[in-house]
Amino acid sequence: MNYIVLDLEWNQAADSADERCRMLTFEIIEIGAVKLNSRMEITDRFHELIRPQVYEEMHKITERLIHIHMDQLQQCRTFPEVAGDFLQWCRGTSAQPYLFATWGPMDLTELQRNMRFFGMDALGKGPLRYYDVQKLFSIAFEDGRIRRNLEYAVDFLNLEKEKQFHRAMGDAIYTAQILRNIKDPIALQRVSYDTFQLPWDHKSEVHVVFDNYAKYISRPFSRKEELMADREVTSTRCYLCHRNLRRKIRWFTPNGKHYYSVSYCDKHGFMKGKIRVRKTDDDRVYAVKTSKFITQQEAQELLARKEHAGQAHKSRRRHS
Ligand SMILES: [Zn+2]
Repeated sequence: MNYIVLDLEWNQAADSADERCRMLTFEIIEIGAVKLNSRMEITDRFHELIRPQVYEEMHKITERLIHIHMDQLQQCRTFPEVAGDFLQWCRGTSAQPYLFATWGPMDLTELQRNMRFFGMDALGKGPLRYYDVQKLFSIAFEDGRIRRNLEYAVDFLNLEKEKQFHRAMGDAIYTAQILRNIKDPIALQRVSYDTFQLPWDHKSEVHVVFDNYAKYISRPFSRKEELMADREVTSTRCYLCHRNLRRKIRWFTPNGKHYYSVSYCDKHGFMKGKIRVRKTDDDRVYAVKTSKFITQQEAQELLARKEHAGQAHKSRRRHS
């Protein structure tokens, strides 16, 4: 596998009341990327600044952070030209497959949102697999949950700080160097999925099994009721032996966004299900479900939570 480590800089409306925010919140003004071979050595680079077409005034924070001035960008090419060349550079001349890698979960979504806004063809069909190096860093070196900034990780690994932070090329190189330092096989199998493009039908839905949990990403539904009535969304199948499990605790929600259940497998024990209901740009909904084996104690805690959620719900209704 080869890798393309990507970093973008973007600008936004100077005034948050700007109507155009709803169309394109972040306008990309710089693309930086490096190609890595299977040994994670840098083999090629791509860098270009972009002339904005939506926000022609630099947001205060953007200017302070990335030190790019608007007049610098006026001689540059536009997004469709630069992104078109970038994608061609990604495809390259070899048929070798590559995996994108970014620091944090935003860059691939914003790249695709800008592509759609400027009328370019989609990157592909369905969710896009990639490495979120910020997450992998946390799994490899910390607790797996905390998210650090790039400079923290560079300091942590004692990498040389000879490049400017918050510029696309520098950040892409730092991200590549951090990725190269992650040897933990558990971390390296934890691939992420960018859901700017969702599965388009039942068959293309995402089912993936990691070392200690399984993940499912559904196709979109127009309403939450429809989503939560879907058999696949609410199924509780043991991801190790593939049997449909009887639910000990039926799906419940403390907040209308997250749903929990507990099932029992004779062979593998208590399995917790968690469904996160997420919204698409066009106001549809989809589910990200994770399944994980838990202890009997944890199962009991969830039951207490369910009873608490039920009572809170009742008392809310009594008072309304
Ligand atoms: Zn099982």
